[in-house]
Parts: sequence; structure tokens; C-alpha cells
Amino acid sequence: MTIILDGKLCANKIIENLRTQTVKLDKKPNLVVIQVGNNPASKIYVKNKQKKAEYIGYNSYIIELPSSVSEDNILEQIYMLNDNPEVNAILVQLPLPENINQQKITEAIDPIKDVDCFTSYNFGWLALGYNPYVLPCTPKGILRLLDEYSIVLEGKNIIVIGRSNIVGKPLSLLLQQRNATVTMAHSRTENLKDISSLMDIVISAIGMPHFITSQYIKDGAIVIDVGINRTEEGLKGDVKFDEVKDKTSYITPVPGGVGPMTIAMLMENTMQLYNIQKNLIL
Ligand code: NDP
Repeated sequence: MTIILDGKLCANKIIENLRTQTVKLDKKPNLVVIQVGNNPASKIYVKNKQKKAEYIGYNSYIIELPSSVSEDNILEQIYMLNDNPEVNAILVQLPLPENINQQKITEAIDPIKDVDCFTSYNFGWLALGYNPYVLPCTPKGILRLLDEYSIVLEGKNIIVIGRSNIVGKPLSLLLQQRNATVTMAHSRTENLKDISSLMDIVISAIGMPHFITSQYIKDGAIVIDVGINRTEEGLKGDVKFDEVKDKTSYITPVPGGVGPMTIAMLMENTMQLYNIQKNLIL
């Protein structure tokens, strides 16, 4: 029997818990999201994040900048947020327009306010197996969801397909820290189907609708679909869910799987940074 990993349910529990904690606070955690340009998907994500933050009771602000904005202008905004003691968490919504140097922008965030582990300071700690201030939201959300269903990672053969800095790369490091044997795949991987169909757990973060068919999956495997692909027929994951589902022991849906967990982790990380900063001041 296949169990659907219910990210929405798990995320809602986390959100309610944060809401309860926030009510008791005199000063509320403060999250600022910087959104550059007019990417429609990014705009939806940012609005959803703000809605969730407001529901919890955080102070939440969006700084919307046109795609014509200069790098220096974005950097100035970040430096101001870094210096503002009222701001606990800063997120730069990615992707940035092509003319903007992403590395320069994300590196400008003060690591103690770096809510998605973008900076080399935090990512470096993660890579070395130490604790960054917070873990990146999507990989952290995936691990939390697997833990919620008591899925053991130790000793498992896991393939992570996609090696981006925000999903695949940090996730593969975190899975290794959980003693999984991790294969990292990407667009140049040869014989992907053959490799993937041997794996206990398949995690896809490539951004191609319905790319992963049942041929990539062995019987009883666990499948995590990170992909969010906007198509004319609506939102689709990387995994051909209807075809793959019955072959799996556990699978995430899209929507309602990893997406809500990412937002829940952003909210949890905001609270975590708030607490770290509060303890430093005391
Ligand atoms: P990127 O575009 O940064 O990275 C995509 C990765 O997939 C690259 O490493 C690329 O390989 C690899 N890839 C592309 N085509 C193939 C292929 N045919 N076979 C194997 N690997 C391939 O994407 P992101 O990591 O930012 O996002 C991936 C997906 O996850 C997107 O759909 C995005 O919307 C979604 N996403 C969902 C989140 C959520 O909360 N659910 C959060 C973040 C992202 P190479 O490196 O060789 O180019």
C-alpha cells in the first residue's frame, strides 16, 4: 500500500505551533523578503510566504524592486536590513534577473539573518557538518517530512536529481550526515533511469514536468517530488504521480508535498533566528 506524505498536514502543525509561540511574545519576529523583477511565479511564492507570516503573527514586509534596479541599490537595501535591529530574517527571492550577480547579493546578507542558508558562511558550516544558524528551507522541510513518517535514512541508497545550491546540493550533504549513501545526479548524468531504478529513495528537483516515470522507480521505493512546474494544465511535479504512485511505498504529491514544508521551514527559521538574536542581546 502506498502512503501519501502529507506535507500540508505536517506544515500546518508546524505553523500552528509557531502561532501559539508568537502570541506569547511581546516583540514579534520580523521577516523581510526582497523581490526583484516581475517573475510571476516568484510573486506568488512571496505573497504566500507573507500571508503565512501574517497568520502566525510575525511582522512581515516585502521590498519589491523593479528588474531595472542596480546591484548597488539592492546591496544598500540589504545593508540597511542587516543594520536594523528590528529585522530578524532576510530572504532574497530567487531567481534574480540575469543582469544581477546573485552571489554578490546573497553574500551581502548578514549570516545571522540569513533565513535560507544562502551565504557561504552558513553553507560552509553545513558542508563541514557543523550547525549553520539555520538549515536551508527546502532540504530541511524534506527531512522533517520524512522524519514525521519515521522513515529511516541510515544505510539507504538515495538519489538526489538536481544539484542546485538551494535544493539538491545542501540536501545531498544533509542526507550524508544522516548516514545515507547518496548519489547526486544532474543533466549530464548518464544512464539516469538505470541508476535511479536501483534506489531506495528518489528525490527529484529538476524542474521538468512529469520527467520521472515508473521506469525510474523500483518497487517499494520512496519518492520525493520537489519540482513545481507551471504548465497550461496547472501545477505539475517532476514525477508522473498517477503512473508512479502504486509502485512506491511513500510518495509526495504536488501540490501539497514539499511546497508547504518549505514555507513552514521559512517560518520556523525566522523564529529560530529571532531566538538566536534575542539570546545574543541578553
Ligand atoms: P535549478 O534550475 O537551479 O536546478 C535544476 C537542476 O536539475 C540542475 O542541477 C540540473 O542539472 C538538473 N537537471 C535539469 N535537467 C535534468 C535532466 N534532464 N536530468 C537530470 N537532471 C537535470 O532548479 P532548483 O533546484 O531551483 O529547482 C528545481 C525544481 O524544484 C523547480 O521545479 C523548482 O520550481 C522547484 N522548487 C520547489 C521548491 C519547493 O518548495 N517545493 C523549492 C525550490 C525549488 P545541471 O546542474 O547539470 O544543469
